[in-house]
Amino acid sequence: MKTIYVDNNATTRVAPEVLEVMLPYLNEFYGNPSSMHSFGGNVAHKIKEARAKVASLINASPDEIMFTSCGTESDSTAIHAAISSVPDKKHIITSRVEHPAVKNLFEHLSKKGYRVTFVPVDRKGMLDLDYLYNSLADDTAIVSIMWANNETGMIFPVQEISQVIKTKGIVFHTDAVQAVGKLPIDVSKSEIDMLSISGHKIHAPKGIGALYVRKGTRFSPFLIGGHQEGGRRGGTENVAYIIGIGKASELAATHLEEMATRVEKLRDKLENELLKRIPNAIINGDTENRLPNTTSISFEYVEGESILLMMDELGICASSGSACTSGSLEPSHVLRAMGVPFTAAHGSIRFSLGIYSTEDEIDFIVEKLPLIIENLRTMSPFWK
Ligand code: PLP
Repeated sequence: MKTIYVDNNATTRVAPEVLEVMLPYLNEFYGNPSSMHSFGGNVAHKIKEARAKVASLINASPDEIMFTSCGTESDSTAIHAAISSVPDKKHIITSRVEHPAVKNLFEHLSKKGYRVTFVPVDRKGMLDLDYLYNSLADDTAIVSIMWANNETGMIFPVQEISQVIKTKGIVFHTDAVQAVGKLPIDVSKSEIDMLSISGHKIHAPKGIGALYVRKGTRFSPFLIGGHQEGGRRGGTENVAYIIGIGKASELAATHLEEMATRVEKLRDKLENELLKRIPNAIINGDTENRLPNTTSISFEYVEGESILLMMDELGICASSGSACTSGSLEPSHVLRAMGVPFTAAHGSIRFSLGIYSTEDEIDFIVEKLPLIIENLRTMSPFWK
């Protein structure tokens, strides 16, 4: 059975070009980049190249990029660095729809004595900017707002937000894990202080990330140890993976155009055809302001998990908008924050396409999914 992978916001396939450049650094060139000999020195040189490639993808300078183990570590490092540099400031701001990497950390910090503002979103998933700006206080240590939402694909105006935050002298961090590689990003046109990147969302392997730290941003390391990463993160570098994220960044830059054209057209085709063929199907989020690859669709009166299981039997991989916690299927915090009614939130599916998605795959989903929904609805007590 062929796998039809439309879950690229969860993770992506490692690009063959990425794997190819990584492999020699797992077997042949195993030197430590900190060694004095040229066997290690050559490895250090490859890390330097990779740093420049990641920097180039977001128009940063190479010394503003530090490597981490994942997007979650990048988020945690940025937020901890910001609050520990101003220990007297006890107010922190984020949105109600962040990924758990930020949301759960802010909830943790609230238990540690921080006053947390969670900025709401409206029914279309748009951030309440007035609420955000009115929340800024003299003791605000950091504002952390994601660039694009992983479930709905909603894009937040982080460049504009960063300009406002800058005037107050507050650190601004953005979790750009879902935006990088899908949207053009130019940090020089913003006042963003720190920006998180994850390798496995851009066709590098899982277990590598990066954090952009604008020159001059107050920073204290999370991992204290050796001199690696300019003293910002101790620990011998994950060489092959760093080389991998470098190559993936180079490829991502060349794929941005395709994302905005071919991939977006495929996403629109999938969405339009499903809405045409399936009654009571609703798109979650503002269609004008989304990532080109993502659609979150609610199929009323069916359970997302049942849809996923039936699609899985046909080889179709997608995600649902609920989290199975302690046996009850709770709609995700993102859909709840948007006020999506329970009957719709329950049956929501996220499709996230990628550069390997094909028209045939979309046609297959469009042919099969209406039957799946129809079958499930005949079993639903709520569907008449
Ligand atoms: N932030 C967002 C918006 C994400 O979508 C994800 C992963 O899904 C993360 C952070 C965490 O990234 P990682 O899996 O690399 O820790």
